[in-house]
Amino acid sequence: MLNISELPLHDLPSRASGRLLQPFWDYLLFHHMPLISSPFFIVILAFSSYLFFSLPFAVLDLLGDRVPLLYQYKIQPERQPTTRMMAKSFLTALYNHLFFVLPAVSIGMFILPIPALPQDAPTLYELFVDGLAALLLFDTQYYIWHYIHHKQPQLYRWIHAVHHEYMAPFSWSTEQLSIPELMAVGFWSNLDPILLKCHPLTTWCLTIFSIWMSVEDHIGYDLPWTLNHVVPFGLLGGAPAHDMHHQKPSSNFAPFFSHWDRIFGTAVTLKKKKTVRK
Ligand SMILES: [Zn+2]
Ligand SMILES: [Zn+2]
Repeated sequence: MLNISELPLHDLPSRASGRLLQPFWDYLLFHHMPLISSPFFIVILAFSSYLFFSLPFAVLDLLGDRVPLLYQYKIQPERQPTTRMMAKSFLTALYNHLFFVLPAVSIGMFILPIPALPQDAPTLYELFVDGLAALLLFDTQYYIWHYIHHKQPQLYRWIHAVHHEYMAPFSWSTEQLSIPELMAVGFWSNLDPILLKCHPLTTWCLTIFSIWMSVEDHIGYDLPWTLNHVVPFGLLGGAPAHDMHHQKPSSNFAPFFSHWDRIFGTAVTLKKKKTVRK
């Protein structure tokens, strides 16, 4: 299962390539090799990121207007998710991972070669540029897929409607997906870093970051410090754009960036409803 290539392990620290991430990468290679070389690592990383990022917003949803400081940013205050809705979304994601993703990875272990882990860490520049390229590529693929699955009634009903059960998204609903949609998303998420020759560390950072962005899309709160506010020129859609997509499904098809919706005229800006303060 281990595939650290070329140099013996004792040579690793001497390869001081001036890369800031090298000590961290060496630490992973030395101390966590069985974990990081397992094909299941990326699944564990993805599902735990979904849990970790969604949980605080689930607590916020349960508290609702008891936290007025944050509730003032709720996009659709009249639509509060119930515990039953949250449980259904979470259990759908869990079921999909247990009964589809894990078996698919297990089968893949016998078919696909296990890629070797390089000894050099990526530079921060490589991590940023490759990660950004992969995000832009995925954004384009999902825009096209998403547009088609809204325009073709059969595809919508059988494949994408599962994700549109709720008009007001909440964090757990991020991964309320049908198996075919999960397959499409999983296929690109795995293929794109390979096509772009991303370093494994870049791929893992990309996995965590893209799940953070997806959860942010679904939190149902337009918080002033989320990425769509931090990144300038409205380059990212964030929760306001994706919340609008759940309200008005013929708009805002891109998952992360706003350029394709602007270019093709599918961008619709959210009009915030007034929060009723008690
Ligand atoms: Zn959504
Ligand atoms: Zn949709």
